[in-house]
Amino acid sequence: MPKKKIIIANWKMNLIEAETVLLVKELIKELGDSPEKVDVVLCPSFIPLDEVSKLLEGTNIKLGAQDIFWETRGTYTGEISPRMLQEWNCEYVIVGHSERRQNFKETDEMVNKKVIAAVENDLIPIICVGETKAERKAGKKKSVVKKQLLAALKNVKLDRAKEIIIAYEPVWVIGTGKPVKPEDAEEMHVMVRGLLDKLYTPALRDKYFRIIYGGSVDSKSASDFFKQELIDGSLVGGASLLVNEFVGIVKAAANY
Ligand code: PEP
Repeated sequence: MPKKKIIIANWKMNLIEAETVLLVKELIKELGDSPEKVDVVLCPSFIPLDEVSKLLEGTNIKLGAQDIFWETRGTYTGEISPRMLQEWNCEYVIVGHSERRQNFKETDEMVNKKVIAAVENDLIPIICVGETKAERKAGKKKSVVKKQLLAALKNVKLDRAKEIIIAYEPVWVIGTGKPVKPEDAEEMHVMVRGLLDKLYTPALRDKYFRIIYGGSVDSKSASDFFKQELIDGSLVGGASLLVNEFVGIVKAAANY
């Protein structure tokens, strides 16, 4: 049975607090208090989280963070702990985004520690995996994603998890305005699903996981992705900064 779609906005480091608040207010107005057919998650940067959490009170729109550190407290200057995210009422957290893997040298091991920290602290990790252009050209797209996924999920106690979201994001299309073909994404989703079935069981995969696509999705391309049986939603970057675009994507998801 198709799962309820989930649409996640990743606003990256694009908005100051006042701009974030404006965008959230617009989205609440446009989406209504209850996007019932679709799960909608907003991931602002850390600073506005507290403010956004208050704005989302009483709505069905959920709050997520863009990153997490794996220790609960201590001498880790500049880091944000799971407890802090809980205090801001975050339910979701993006882990292992390609921009963090590339720009901040996050390794598979670090991603794994973050996934474990999220699950142990009742946060739903959105685990990003995906190949670079060079890896795809070398015929390694499946092996790269498989390695990232197995590493990210190592020693994760599924029975502690509320849910786990896997975001397949081909790195080379992020921010280009040109997504991969929906069938291409679906092929990778088949692979990811098969891997989870082997690692756990089809029943556990079905209970705990949603597998989504991310990479230059906009309101025009969204339906073509959501039509694919195994694509449970999308992680949206650029288009999530524009009210009409993001609302269009959520509405497209509501049709499937
Ligand atoms: C992303 O960075 O996760 C992403 C999907 O970005 P965009 O939609 O801009 O390609």
